[in-house]
Amino acid sequence: MQHNDFTPWFVSPQSQCKLSGFDTEPPSKGLPSGSALEEQLVELGEQLNKLQSTLHAAKTRGLLVVFQGMDTAGKDGVIRSVFSHVSPLGVRAEAFGVPTELESRHDFLWRIHAKAPARGEMVIFNRSHYEDVLVTRVRGMIDEAACQQRYDNILHFESLLQDSGISVLKCYLHISKSEQKKRLQARLDDPRKHWKLQPSDFADRELWPQFTQAYEAALSATSTPESPWYVVPADSKPYRDSFVAGLIVQTLENMKLKTPKPSFDLSKVKLT
Ligand code: ADP
Repeated sequence: MQHNDFTPWFVSPQSQCKLSGFDTEPPSKGLPSGSALEEQLVELGEQLNKLQSTLHAAKTRGLLVVFQGMDTAGKDGVIRSVFSHVSPLGVRAEAFGVPTELESRHDFLWRIHAKAPARGEMVIFNRSHYEDVLVTRVRGMIDEAACQQRYDNILHFESLLQDSGISVLKCYLHISKSEQKKRLQARLDDPRKHWKLQPSDFADRELWPQFTQAYEAALSATSTPESPWYVVPADSKPYRDSFVAGLIVQTLENMKLKTPKPSFDLSKVKLT
């Protein structure tokens, strides 16, 4: 995979994004497959490791990577596989579930802002503030007007992060409904995976069209060149992992990070 051209998967700002127009499977031509794809992930992992070390050392910029997707889309899997290549120093993963009683008495971005990266950090969100315009919208917890207002709040919040040196990269892990069926069945068939199942997984599957619509509206309203949404083909796990690793490498490269200069004159150091 060329890791420098992700344009076809970028959601154009203010477009009427249609997820059916994006493939859930990898492109069929000119791609590495099998072990070549695994080797590519190792290579991208090495680049990611170097770039993340510089990010951590320089403390001039930060990165927030948001993962959203239908149940079983692979949020946990991609986090495990891509971020196993970086040092835990300066990297943090945060997951967001149903808001607690305290959280729901605050504005919806309160708990999110508290977990946002500082300069020098890379933070991964497994679910995010986007739940507040997705599941809440589909389940009728907020109306259309409140949802529109939240899109604006999100745009302002992400531009505040950007102004503070924190880039936001958003990945929608795009799986087909038939792939979700296979993955749910595999979880049902394997007692070691039963803990991963929730009644909401099956209830939400029934609402696939409504979730798709909510995602399309949210992605269209909140994708910007500075805080882009990418639709990641996620039916193939190895392809998904390489794609995401490439996207993060590219984002970090674009920051043109520099290793800080030593704060004292090294030529005067005498080792005894
Ligand atoms: P996952 O499904 O990601 O493995 P959990 O089993 O903890 O993780 O499920 C998290 C649940 O919390 C999901 O059903 C999700 O829709 C819900 N959730 C997350 N954020 C919110 C929110 N702001 N409002 C309502 N529900 C939310």
